[in-house]
Amino acid sequence: MKIKSIALKNFRNYNYVHLGFDEHLNIIVGDNAQGKTNLLEALYVCGFGKSFRTTKDSDLVNFNEEITSVKIDIEHDNGYQEIIEYRINQKNRKEFLVNGVNITKISDLLGTINLVLFYPDDLKLIKESPGERRKFLNRELSHISKIYCLDIIEYNRILMQRNELLKKIFYKPEHKETLEIWDEQLADKGSKIIMKRMHFIERLGEISREIHGNITNHVENLSISYITSVKNLTNYDTIKDDLIAGFKKNQESDIKRGFTSIGPHRDDIDIKINGINIKSFGSQGQQRTAALSLKLSEIEIIKSEVGEYPILLLDDVMSELDHKRQKDLIYTLKNVQTIITTTDVKNLLDDYINASKLIKVKGGS
Ligand code: ATP
Ligand code: MG
Repeated sequence: MKIKSIALKNFRNYNYVHLGFDEHLNIIVGDNAQGKTNLLEALYVCGFGKSFRTTKDSDLVNFNEEITSVKIDIEHDNGYQEIIEYRINQKNRKEFLVNGVNITKISDLLGTINLVLFYPDDLKLIKESPGERRKFLNRELSHISKIYCLDIIEYNRILMQRNELLKKIFYKPEHKETLEIWDEQLADKGSKIIMKRMHFIERLGEISREIHGNITNHVENLSISYITSVKNLTNYDTIKDDLIAGFKKNQESDIKRGFTSIGPHRDDIDIKINGINIKSFGSQGQQRTAALSLKLSEIEIIKSEVGEYPILLLDDVMSELDHKRQKDLIYTLKNVQTIITTTDVKNLLDDYINASKLIKVKGGS
């Protein structure tokens, strides 16, 4: 899949812009605060129906205007072309049109254009708490499995009710008998979730190890594994039994604390480079490369699910990568249409500047 062109009207700091894209590499270059990320954001809203940096749609309308629109022209690998239009109207309502036809549900828009974005906040995946890594797992898995998405919703519902009951038991111990029913239900969904996560991590681990090896000239070996309280991970039954035993073992302390202390809602991903944990010991460049490798694995996963490569948007990733890593990164992306932002093109290597389209951005033009 490729984006052929984009037309913006009153989007963020742009008034009117019409741009064509190269089918391989596009470099958006400009000083700070000129509109580079705004351009990626415009592409993003056409794919996901919302921004990655604001929940208020009206933020996207130019300060001096009342309405905005973004129109992109895409071509699938089989030659089929589509036009996607995103608009915010006078009433501050957003609208989508695919080939001129109004789309009422955002879920119908998803999948029309597949985009993968990497932007500075994605470093949270490496640097921050386990909650960020669980969010990543849930988001990625929900994209490829509707059943997983439903299991997570159900698991959270049961978990909330079990936690309520724990608080109640603290004052009224006679309710303790009913805990068993919730333990059983929570362990059922929990076991399904853990199994799916383990399979996904195995697949993600293989793809990201290869990508990371390519970017680092095989000097670094990236490995990821699932961290869970469950010891016997052989199959659904062993995981479920293990969870139930764990709920029982922690029952007294859970009642005192009023929450469930084990289960997939407490699990994590261990990310290592050459056997060393990257959150605690990785350099900035290593952390960025690892986050990038995990994110780029999405490209291969989408390709295997959808049948064509998505479009890659990279916001400001080059700044902490040395020339060698930059070059190997670009080489890794040779099959994918990539749109990348940078403040300084002088830092980039000549051989890939020559092979790409350079888009200079200044004050929204
Ligand atoms: P950096 O290199 O610092 O990341 P950038 O080129 O990516 O910079 P953008 O994030 O694209 O910069 O933002 C450019 C400018 O857009 C900012 O100065 C911001 O004030 C302006 N801007 C944001 N929203 C609007 C809006 N709704 N109307 C007009 N201008 C806006
Ligand atoms: Mg920016």
